[in-house]
Amino acid sequence: MSDISVNDQIVKLVELQKIDYEIYDLKGQLEEKPALLEEKKELFEGKKAKLHELEEKLKTIQLGRKEQELELKVKEEGISKSNAQLSAIKTNKEYTAKISEIENIKADMSVIEDKILLSYEEFDRVNADVEKEKSNVAEEEKKYFSQKAEIEGEVKAIKDRIKVLESQKTQVGSEVDPAYLDMYEKILMRKNGLAIVPLNGSICGGCHLNVLPQEINNLKKKQELVYCEKCNRIIYLEEDL
Ligand SMILES: [Zn+2]
Repeated sequence: MSDISVNDQIVKLVELQKIDYEIYDLKGQLEEKPALLEEKKELFEGKKAKLHELEEKLKTIQLGRKEQELELKVKEEGISKSNAQLSAIKTNKEYTAKISEIENIKADMSVIEDKILLSYEEFDRVNADVEKEKSNVAEEEKKYFSQKAEIEGEVKAIKDRIKVLESQKTQVGSEVDPAYLDMYEKILMRKNGLAIVPLNGSICGGCHLNVLPQEINNLKKKQELVYCEKCNRIIYLEEDL
């Protein structure tokens, strides 16, 4: 490979950089996908949790009503018992006391009956919310699964593209001097997928800082790879390509 000029090597490295930058970008996109999917899932799970909460509330209302109905039954039995006792009472005083006891129980029953009525109303209200939320969840579920399929499709397309690019990379890489390639790969890893950058005037295309005139002179000599002394990336002159 030593018979190939530095300039030809740079041409190859720039070609390689184009491929690598796309790979770098695609891998970045790939990394974001699981979090994106998780975000959609959390949204859907949130809706499900809300539905569950409403269903629990419905159960609580039903349980409360059962308790009140039981309480009502006990009161009814109390009235029957008191009514039966009335015939055995001898004095007016005892009779009045028993009647008043029955009236008290009836008043308690009326309060319980009101509560039961209210609980039916509350049940209907919450039940309507449950039905509404069920259809929301079904809709969200459909949406989530379609988004999931879409994201999985994107992931597959990205992976396929990376495969193509990696095979191109191998091809182009085989045409580069191994020592140069090794240097290039090391910079690529450390410098966010950008190893070789053009010089814009006297500004490095990687870190956007001034490159020393001495380095620019070296670059024009085309005898060796020249590095930006600030970011350590390989620099090249676009007009040489
Ligand atoms: Zn630089």
